[in-house]
Amino acid sequence: MNANEVLRKHNIRKTAIREKVLNLLIRNNECLSYAAIEQKIEDKTQKGSILRVLNYFLSRGIVKKIMIDGIKLRYYFAEKEKRHIVYFRCTCCGDSYLFESKFIEPFAVQGIEVSTSHISAKGICPKCSQ
Ligand SMILES: [Zn+2]
Repeated sequence: MNANEVLRKHNIRKTAIREKVLNLLIRNNECLSYAAIEQKIEDKTQKGSILRVLNYFLSRGIVKKIMIDGIKLRYYFAEKEKRHIVYFRCTCCGDSYLFESKFIEPFAVQGIEVSTSHISAKGICPKCSQ
C-alpha cells in the first residue's frame, strides 16, 4: 500500500506534502516523533505544513498517535492496526516499533478467525544493542 492508494481510498486530495508524510509513515515500522518526521521529510519549505497534515490525517483516522511514558508522542499509520501487529518497545531508549505478526497462523490452521489482537513486546532495539 502506498500514499496514493490511501489518499484515493479516503477521497483526500493529493498534495506533495500529504504524499510525503503518508509514505514515510507507511514505510516505517518505527512509531515516529514529530521531530523525526520533520527531519526525514527534509523539505524546509514545508515545515509548517507537516503538523497540519498530521493533524488532518489524525482527524480522518488514517494516522494514529500514542503517548509513551506520558511524554513522548509518536505517530504511526493506522491501517497497520488492521493487520495483526506486535507493538515493540525498547526498554533502553523507549523507542517503539510496529511489526507485522505471524502469530495468527496456528489459529488459522485450526479454523479460528482472529479479528483483533493486542500484542506488545519489550526488549532491546538494534540501535541500543550495538
Ligand atoms: Zn533502543
